[in-house]
Amino acid sequence: MLPGSGTDRPLLRPPGPGAYHGRPVIVVREFPFDAAHFLPKHPGRCRNMHGHTYRLQVWCEGPIDAESGMVLDFQDIKDVVKARVLDLVDHTLLNDRIENPTAERIAAWIWDQLADSGLPLKEIRLYETPTCFVVHRPAEVPAPDAGS
Ligand SMILES: [Zn+2]
Repeated sequence: MLPGSGTDRPLLRPPGPGAYHGRPVIVVREFPFDAAHFLPKHPGRCRNMHGHTYRLQVWCEGPIDAESGMVLDFQDIKDVVKARVLDLVDHTLLNDRIENPTAERIAAWIWDQLADSGLPLKEIRLYETPTCFVVHRPAEVPAPDAGS
């Protein structure tokens, strides 16, 4: 089984002899899900409860494994994302789980859900509509309240 249900199998192995090349490759899997939300701090119509068909893209990066020819298996991405994200949010009211669930805050929550999964996360993209999306990447600077 996979990180969503507890495994110690590494999803990403270091490139061994015979690796295709040393350059990283990005592997992406996309997941649609439906959910409702409302934004209590929004001045406009988004204060009212409404729904979206969200599209979550999970971008993973790593070297091509010499033996399998893959960075990681698309199915492994699905198993982890289903257990840690989709099963918790699909067809739910996001406000029940995430305070003020803007696209930015939903993406941050999803990132936290996946951060220790073993997936070699590069970034995630969350589309709230076909033309509006947010990108979440690993922190490159300390949070404002860190290290003070
Ligand atoms: Zn909305």
